[in-house]
Amino acid sequence: MSEKKIVKEYTNGEITVVWQPHMCTHSKNCWKGLLDVFDPRRKPWVDMNGATSDAIVAQVSKCPSKALSIK
Ligand code: SF4
Repeated sequence: MSEKKIVKEYTNGEITVVWQPHMCTHSKNCWKGLLDVFDPRRKPWVDMNGATSDAIVAQVSKCPSKALSIK
């Protein structure tokens, strides 16, 4: 049985957020901190138009599990 790790990418043309759900520890930091971008009730749950690149980078840096990262 092969274990496939899902990796999703969301970009605004300037920065790309990388989302690796298997690493998420559900600290909820991301959507409590920046709901306009990270909203788990929405599909897709990441809206790169919800904030400035600086604000997104700052929020992603607070993800304790590194499930969210920037590339
Ligand atoms: S901040 Fe990181 S660990 Fe916490 S819910 Fe968001 S993605 Fe998951």
